[in-house]
Amino acid sequence: MSNGLHFRPTRAEISTAALRHNAKVARQHATDCLLLGVIKADGYGHGANEVARAINGSVDAYGVAFIDEALKLRDAGFLQPIVLLEGCFSEAELPVCAHYGFQPVVHCQAQLDAILNARLVKPLPVWVKVDSGMHRLGFNVDQVETVLAELEASPQVASITLMTHFANADLSEHPLNEAQRDRFIELCARTSPTKSLSSANTAALLSSKLDLGIEPHHWQRTGIMLYGVNPTQERTSEPLQAAMRLVAPIMAVRDIAAGEAVGYGSRWVAERHSRIATVAIGYADGYPRHAPDGTPVWLNGQRASLAGMVSMDMITIDVTDVEQVEVGDEVELWGPNLHVCEVADCVGSISYELLSRISPRVPRHYK
Ligand SMILES: *Cc1c(COP(=O)(O)O)cnc(C)c1O
Repeated sequence: MSNGLHFRPTRAEISTAALRHNAKVARQHATDCLLLGVIKADGYGHGANEVARAINGSVDAYGVAFIDEALKLRDAGFLQPIVLLEGCFSEAELPVCAHYGFQPVVHCQAQLDAILNARLVKPLPVWVKVDSGMHRLGFNVDQVETVLAELEASPQVASITLMTHFANADLSEHPLNEAQRDRFIELCARTSPTKSLSSANTAALLSSKLDLGIEPHHWQRTGIMLYGVNPTQERTSEPLQAAMRLVAPIMAVRDIAAGEAVGYGSRWVAERHSRIATVAIGYADGYPRHAPDGTPVWLNGQRASLAGMVSMDMITIDVTDVEQVEVGDEVELWGPNLHVCEVADCVGSISYELLSRISPRVPRHYK
């Protein structure tokens, strides 16, 4: 939220134009089928309400992890269908789902029992999750026919979408992709063919290798693509735009002699006479504490690199080779000039984690 007054210039600029653009690209990849815009974890750190508003015209429903995230969207006035990707944590949620029009995933026996035993004012659309090989959530393939029969016979159930999730869709050569797809397709063929189906996340949607046999009643689920990231190995082949630009100002600039060290633990040692800039962002803002020396940043049209350990509120960067660096200059930690995936690779993480962990201390500025 960008409410309130912030004097520190550190901020995450969110481009609603980029969100809209990326949603349109996702829509083009999902022509002739239904599109679920995944905006869990506060829209991967971008602000769920603003993302929901920006992508509204391109998606058929929103996806969140659990009911509290869905309730916030209803409170903000969004009336679209919302899928709860982890389903319900207790049976008390079911009447709330019925009242607000949420569509829970059913991934285990306890969730199934809760639905079958509920007495709801309105039947619920449910999504049945199948474990086709990721082994995280979902019914085993051989249980699904029974589960479907019970749900189909239940007056609590309005419609059923059969879903599964790929473990390795970002690695197009991984053998589990086709194995999971084949198990799912085989299961779908055995059960009622009129059901809605859903298997693809962004990576599966963008991977040309994985033929999912998409039909008009199939749902594609896309999250990270909305925020400007192609998670497959063909990372730059899509015309996506970075939705977040993380920016922080330089607070201090100093020259140090060769042999002097910078920051906690004196990790970075100057090999030559060096100029060090201190930047107002740290791990309490969500900048990754494990970022090694050399992690890139961008300022004044040039790259510089992290020099020394990340502190709670500050980082230090080596700007010896950057021209004209002054206090107040703004540094881009990631954004249109420095891809978040490149930073993620440097720090041993992924774009999803870096984006979603930007803390509430960092105001979001919407453009
Ligand atoms: C988060 C999530 C997605 C979105 O994945 P992306 O890789 O961001 O597209 C899709 N499906 C499920 C079940 C999820 O939990």
